[in-house]
Amino acid sequence: MNQYDVAVIGSGPGGYVAAIRCAQLGMKTAIIEKYATLGGTCLNVGCIPSKALLDSSHHYEDAVKHFEEHGIEIPGDVKVNLEQMIARKQGVVDQTTKGIEFLMDKNKIDVYHGVGSFKDATHINIAKEDGEETIEAKNTIIATGSKPSSLPFIEIDKERVITSTEALKLKEIPKHLIVIGGGVIGLELGQVYKRLGADVTVVEFMDRIIPGMDGALSKELTKVMKKQKVKFNLSHKVKSVERKGDEVIVKADDKKGEEVTIKGDYCLVSVGRKPYTDGLNADAAGVKLDDRGRVEVNEHLQTNVSNIYAIGDVVKGAMLAHKAEEEGTMVAEILAGQKPHIDYNLIPGVVYTWPEVAAVGKTEEQLKEEGVEYKSGQFPMRALGRARASMDIDGFVKILADKNTDEVLGIHMIGARCADLIAEGVTAMEFRASAEDISRMSHAHPTYAEAVKEAALAATDDRALHV
Ligand code: FAD
Repeated sequence: MNQYDVAVIGSGPGGYVAAIRCAQLGMKTAIIEKYATLGGTCLNVGCIPSKALLDSSHHYEDAVKHFEEHGIEIPGDVKVNLEQMIARKQGVVDQTTKGIEFLMDKNKIDVYHGVGSFKDATHINIAKEDGEETIEAKNTIIATGSKPSSLPFIEIDKERVITSTEALKLKEIPKHLIVIGGGVIGLELGQVYKRLGADVTVVEFMDRIIPGMDGALSKELTKVMKKQKVKFNLSHKVKSVERKGDEVIVKADDKKGEEVTIKGDYCLVSVGRKPYTDGLNADAAGVKLDDRGRVEVNEHLQTNVSNIYAIGDVVKGAMLAHKAEEEGTMVAEILAGQKPHIDYNLIPGVVYTWPEVAAVGKTEEQLKEEGVEYKSGQFPMRALGRARASMDIDGFVKILADKNTDEVLGIHMIGARCADLIAEGVTAMEFRASAEDISRMSHAHPTYAEAVKEAALAATDDRALHV
């Protein structure tokens, strides 16, 4: 029987990063993955393929809508070749998952393909295609991730009533895509198909989209996506989703309780994700799950069984790849006797629509609820030379700072390249910068990043220069 210092179950961004860090720290490490490819949800059916399709559809939209204004003429019609678009996406996925194989090999991590299930707290059975194998591990890291969740009355047939996984490989462009759920995944994939020519209707239970983010971001994104002709049915409670041949009929109650019927040819159910522990046999190791099916962990990500840890989507907290990665690193370093720490307040959240939406720290709503005295500085993207040069003028940067100390408490932005710009916000907050600190740093001109400096100037005595 093979023996390891650490066995990692699941090879998503949590699991593979944990395995690499364990190996770097000198631990004999195994990783167990039930699918043929490594990389988990993120690399196979999540972050990477969705960004590949967002980029392709963005190029198409630019070609159709904006090239002419830029003085670029294309003889004949610009057409979508969906098959090629999906094939390119798959190529990106394949390249990326092979990269993880390379990293496992480079770090001398043993890879087992099969379902890992606990026999007891130190033994894991692996059900492989060619038979069973048991390994022994002093420590185990559960990184089994999550799966799309649904509503109890919806039958996902994976053809017309679909989850994000199917939406990443459709064979045709929907005529009318109904998206249930105005969160990150629904909006990103809704925008992909909108750009490719589908009508898109978003049905959301709450009174705003991206409900966890600052209200100003929801408002601006709604405004911009409405301009892009996405329809929104907010405060709508979906009651039924019925498929009749090629038609999908969604019925919902609006906020007055009146029934609304929406007909489309595809319905994307994107109402969130749920932790995944099927087949893990956590009971056999004595590992406790909480009432929402997540593996219960303490602040060191340790389960109730001292040599078993859990990370990523399968534990509490934001379901984000970079959160899972930080947790993977943290557990590896704890196992090596170090004292790492994660500041969960500084895990950024990003929506990769265009304009992109990104945030770190507290929202204005949270600060109000917590009774914190704060001030706010906001700067519109349209006032930047760089934004006008590229015609990406939607959005703004908003900085929230403590009214008394000027410490930055939250940065919220929507606009071109905000997914990358937010890193400046994370760095500033990690070093506990004041708004004035940011306002006094030189930002290259002309860049979108100048909006961060200007918002900081606005937050400190209303000193923005270009509005
Ligand atoms: P996962 O990536 O879910 O990996 C878990 C792995 O464990 C899987 O490969 C699974 O097969 C394996 N497994 C499960 N049980 C067993 C078992 N018993 N034995 C062996 N293997 C097992 N996050 C971002 O930060 N940015 C984004 O842009 C982003 N975009 C997304 C887009 C979409 C469409 C989706 C669906 C998600 C997106 N996410 C994004 C979320 C991100 O994918 C997850 O937060 C991340 O993958 C979680 O990582 P993880 O390691 O916890 O689990």
